[in-house]
Amino acid sequence: MSGPEVLRFAANLYRVPLGEGYFLVDAGLPREARRLLPLLNLPPKLLFLTHHHLDHAGGAKALWERFGLPVLAHPREWPYLTGEKPRPPLPIPLLGRRLANLGPPLPREALRPAEEGEEVFGWRVVALPGHTLGQVGLLREGVLLAGDALRRGGLPPRLINEDDALARRTVRRILDLGVTRVYPGHGEPLDRQEVEALALRLGV
Ligand SMILES: [Zn+2]
Ligand SMILES: [Zn+2]
Repeated sequence: MSGPEVLRFAANLYRVPLGEGYFLVDAGLPREARRLLPLLNLPPKLLFLTHHHLDHAGGAKALWERFGLPVLAHPREWPYLTGEKPRPPLPIPLLGRRLANLGPPLPREALRPAEEGEEVFGWRVVALPGHTLGQVGLLREGVLLAGDALRRGGLPPRLINEDDALARRTVRRILDLGVTRVYPGHGEPLDRQEVEALALRLGV
């Protein structure tokens, strides 16, 4: 299996190769769509969103408009993606709520559910809650696309985790899934030993 290709935007986006074509994991900030779209000369088969945060989901509307592709996300994230509910504010005084919600809402008809145990082109959807409650990743042959469940050197800052204790337990869960390599939403990939060291440090 050839590995996912990282596209470095505010978050890491991943192009996951298939026998024919590819699908895309995460979509970047809304204003990054202008840089992202020209990189996608072939239309992606689908867009998989790990979670609702703007740096991962903000470009989804532009991709849907361009390609008419299905957008997979956990149903818990849908209200934030469609604008039905405001995203929790970023930890920035006064501007936090506005900055978290700059993205154009996705129409509901674009969305398809991605829930634990489902298959996406041979990848298994796994629940990775904590950073957001409906965060999901994709697992195949020990390789995990993990969204913001963890990163090199730790968890995302406590203030942007919807449930920090749950986020810590999810690191244990990631090890229990038998991962050998983890592709995070920010920074470089981690091998199993790095995740083990992180779990130890977090006491999980
Ligand atoms: Zn992120
Ligand atoms: Zn995030």
